[in-house]
Amino acid sequence: MTEAHGRIDPSPWHGLDPATVLEQLGVEACGGLSTPEVAERRAQCGANAIRPARRRGAVRIVLGQFADLMILVLIGAAVVSGVIGDAGDTLVILAIILLNGAIGAVQELRAERALAALRRLDAGTAAVLRDGAAATIPAEDLVPGDIVLLEAGRAVPADLRLIEAHGLQLGEAALTGESLPVEKGTAAIPDPALPLADRRNMAFKGTAVLDGRGRGVVVATGMATALGGIAGMLDTVEATRTPLQRRLTRFGRQITAAALLLCAIILGLGIARGEPPLLMLLTALSLAVAAIPEALPAVVTVLLALGARRMAAENALIRRLSAVETLGSVTVIGTDKTGTLTRNEMQATALWTAEGKLPVAALDVTDPAGRRLLSALALCNEVVPDAAGQPRGEPTEIALWRLAAAHGVDKAALERTAPRLGEIPFDSGRRRMATLHRGGEGCDLYVKGAPESVLPLCRAIAAGRGEASLNRPVLAQALERMASEGLRVLALAWRRCPVPLPQSEAALERDLTLLGFVGLFDPARPEARAAVATCRAAGITPIMITGDHPATALTLARQVGIATAEEDALTGRELAMLSDAELQAQLAGTRVFARVDPAQKLRIVAALQARGEVVAMTGDGVNDAPALARAEIGVAMGRGGTDVAREAAGLVLLDDNFATIVGAVREGRRIFDNIRKFVRYAVTCNSAEIWTIFLAPFLGLPVPLLPIQILWINLVTDGLPGLALAAEPAEAGVMQRRPRPPEESVFAQGLGRHVIWVGLLMAAVVLAIQAWGVQEGNPHWQTMVFTVLTLSQMGHVLAIRSERESLFRLGLRSNRPLLGAVTLTCLLQVAVVMLPPLNPLFGTAPLTAEEWAVCGLASCVVFVAVEIEKWMGRRKEGKGSALDPAGATRPLHPDSAARQEKGSKGNALGGGPGGEASW
Ligand code: ATP
Repeated sequence: MTEAHGRIDPSPWHGLDPATVLEQLGVEACGGLSTPEVAERRAQCGANAIRPARRRGAVRIVLGQFADLMILVLIGAAVVSGVIGDAGDTLVILAIILLNGAIGAVQELRAERALAALRRLDAGTAAVLRDGAAATIPAEDLVPGDIVLLEAGRAVPADLRLIEAHGLQLGEAALTGESLPVEKGTAAIPDPALPLADRRNMAFKGTAVLDGRGRGVVVATGMATALGGIAGMLDTVEATRTPLQRRLTRFGRQITAAALLLCAIILGLGIARGEPPLLMLLTALSLAVAAIPEALPAVVTVLLALGARRMAAENALIRRLSAVETLGSVTVIGTDKTGTLTRNEMQATALWTAEGKLPVAALDVTDPAGRRLLSALALCNEVVPDAAGQPRGEPTEIALWRLAAAHGVDKAALERTAPRLGEIPFDSGRRRMATLHRGGEGCDLYVKGAPESVLPLCRAIAAGRGEASLNRPVLAQALERMASEGLRVLALAWRRCPVPLPQSEAALERDLTLLGFVGLFDPARPEARAAVATCRAAGITPIMITGDHPATALTLARQVGIATAEEDALTGRELAMLSDAELQAQLAGTRVFARVDPAQKLRIVAALQARGEVVAMTGDGVNDAPALARAEIGVAMGRGGTDVAREAAGLVLLDDNFATIVGAVREGRRIFDNIRKFVRYAVTCNSAEIWTIFLAPFLGLPVPLLPIQILWINLVTDGLPGLALAAEPAEAGVMQRRPRPPEESVFAQGLGRHVIWVGLLMAAVVLAIQAWGVQEGNPHWQTMVFTVLTLSQMGHVLAIRSERESLFRLGLRSNRPLLGAVTLTCLLQVAVVMLPPLNPLFGTAPLTAEEWAVCGLASCVVFVAVEIEKWMGRRKEGKGSALDPAGATRPLHPDSAARQEKGSKGNALGGGPGGEASW
């Protein structure tokens, strides 16, 4: 229906006037569609959703498993060997390749499903008019003809022809590349070939409302929208690969090259020694298929996606998979105050008027000044009661509405005698709002906002029937006292306006009479203090960035442990005076930023990053979006936040709770640990197989394993046990170590070394068994080699469940899926060795009890060795902290180079619970 990629719109909605559009779409502007009409249209046009261009179906995923060149060559070679040799062997090889492909496909499908579930959770909503009433519905349910209500912060949910616009400004960068806000109107523009960017009476899906409000009628949904026409550019959850996935893909390529080279050497050496060429070819190809970690990136996606799903259940919704990884590296969390650290359950607990400070119940309603204050509370207020009479709106507003109601002032009744004529809405830059009402002989203006914002506009203070002059030092003192009790203080003021009304806002909002201050109490969230302590132990510094008064902010910051008694707050005004370099220096000792404009958040994030910090930053408003996009992890509020902030964020807090961010960091660290464990396991196993087959001829031994055995080991070891590592619980000390430097290689902290030495040790054990068997003339040597290699891997996977704790401490049952996978693998191994029908297929022979005992013992060697490695690590750590008690209080990250140096020293220096981090 719209123009995309030069296609001219057959139905140029922008060329028609609003009334015609409404008529053509069969809808009334004030009532919206009815439920039956919606159902009918929905059946016709389907869901309002963009199908991601890259989405792959199940069949393609399954076929994709066999599209690998090595697998194709292996299949070819197996078929040739079947034709000229043993067809049974070939069939088993093909069956194993199929099974391997099936496991890969199941993994990928699981990842797809987990990602799709995340996408569903992340689906937006739309405010619409239906059946004559406003409602919020899933954006997916919109149909052409729906009337959509737009306000600042909302994403545009479908293509709309605007029918009402009040100061409506849209951000269209995502669609047209225009970086400046675009002013929108409703007048028809009769030019059918008008480019998208110039259709000023349209609002397109994928753009966002930056300011103002408006209404539009849906003219196109889903793939019929302008965005649908260019869906390929969509940045959906899975479209971008995470840095880790990219790094592992690169690593996979290097390993592939090395494995191919080694396999070629093995093939050459084998043929040179007179082994049957076709068998050697199959051996080398099987080894290549087994050793190439083609599944690594897919498994990482599975682990990340499963982790993200678990996080969503804990109220942390991941919007970009890379955020899962980055969470483990976060060094600073910049958090809002209201709602995140507090419960956002405001209650008016104190008043200050010309009479001085009084409890809220003591307000004299017979006094004209008192009555005027109550009118201001009720009228300069955006609360709308719902059908049940319960107030709906911002907690701050609700608290003030309740205060008025408690003194018998009913907003609705009052508005009947003093209807609202105009308003200047609240905005966090101005920190105040104003409403204009019809008064006795003219108009009354009520202003409410932060005292610093309202007091400069005041000329006097209301006292009894008249006014008194302002004593600003007394006011400042009163304000400071209320704020340092942790109260959010709002000033209320009033003025009778001259008629005709002044034209400018500045001329209107002047010569006000102060009515008083109201102190609102908002209790800290009970879990906030513990979450702050966890952050500190984990080497993460929480800082508070709020629009509230410094004293209010500091009181709460001290209460939850963000600031100490000595620390002071830096205000937005002070911040504005600092140069970037000065700000960076100032950051070292500042934990609380107060009266900060959202725009200043961006400066704070940038300055923190310049110091080498990895920043998670919360935000909810339109103006927070740049800071959220700039931070390594933008954290948006799911309850109170705008769509615009959400779009810019990597993580959405469904409960707006600070503790949820800390929980997400913990989960991010666990997931990253488990990815490392999987890499450790898979790469070590592969290297053991390669070493075994590569080194055997140098020791004068025959080829140790048959191709089918190599493929079997790859199937049973890489598949189930590897994936069960995703279920591994977090390590005990996961939140007692410093953040991982983001640039740190997956192979840092001894992983690379581990892969080499354990791979070699495993190969040495296996070759020793082979040498012994061959020398003794034991006909079962190959079955034993095969069994020891499989079982050693099981011992290894159990030992690497923790990077430091012993398995005996963890207990076998703490990861039941892994226990099940290991048990199943062992039983399968026993089956292929002991069940006579399987013996010819796998080239095995039943082992005697003594041989089983030897295999069992030999398979324990790797397990014991890795346990000793961990024990030595624990001992070194113990000594390290005894020798370096300062470790716990080491300053954090003077720069990223130092961070890297610390990263390479591992966890040994991680701060303890008392170890406060500074930077
Ligand atoms: P944070 O969520 O970061 O703690 P905040 O919610 O306090 O910040 P804003 O919502 O920007 O920040 O509010 C800033 C200041 O504006 C408040 O401290 C208060 O003085 C004033 N204010 C807040 N809400 C209103 C409102 N509805 N009407 C008038 N003034 C308000």
